[in-house]
Amino acid sequence: MESCIFCKIANKESPADILHESRDVVIFKDIRPSAPVHYLVVSKKHIPSIKDVKHEDEALMGHLIHMAKEAAEKLNLPGYKLVFNVGREGGQVVDHIHLHILGGWQNGI
Ligand code: AMP
Ligand code: ZN
Repeated sequence: MESCIFCKIANKESPADILHESRDVVIFKDIRPSAPVHYLVVSKKHIPSIKDVKHEDEALMGHLIHMAKEAAEKLNLPGYKLVFNVGREGGQVVDHIHLHILGGWQNGI
């Protein structure tokens, strides 16, 4: 997927403020944050959306959540939201699967 921005970031062809990386995911800062702390956990495999997840991707999806938890600990977030936007109607703009980590509020919102 050569035109996909998140594939480019995963392949280091586009810049990003990377917090952490594993064999299968990369975690970087959202450029237009919608929370005081906003990171994206992005799979290196190009899967357009949750709608396209297959049985063989189950372990990868678990890994995404586990990596989000570890990133939140690294960021010292006492609480946070994990969000998948799914499809245009669900607010998804970038068609490459990603899990939002949102946090840093004083009182939960
Ligand atoms: P979504 O609406 O779930 O598709 O979220 C896409 C997110 O990606 C938005 O919050 C954007 O601000 C963010 N985003 C888009 N391009 C980049 C980029 N090059 N680097 C970091 N974040 C990005
Ligand atoms: Zn992609």
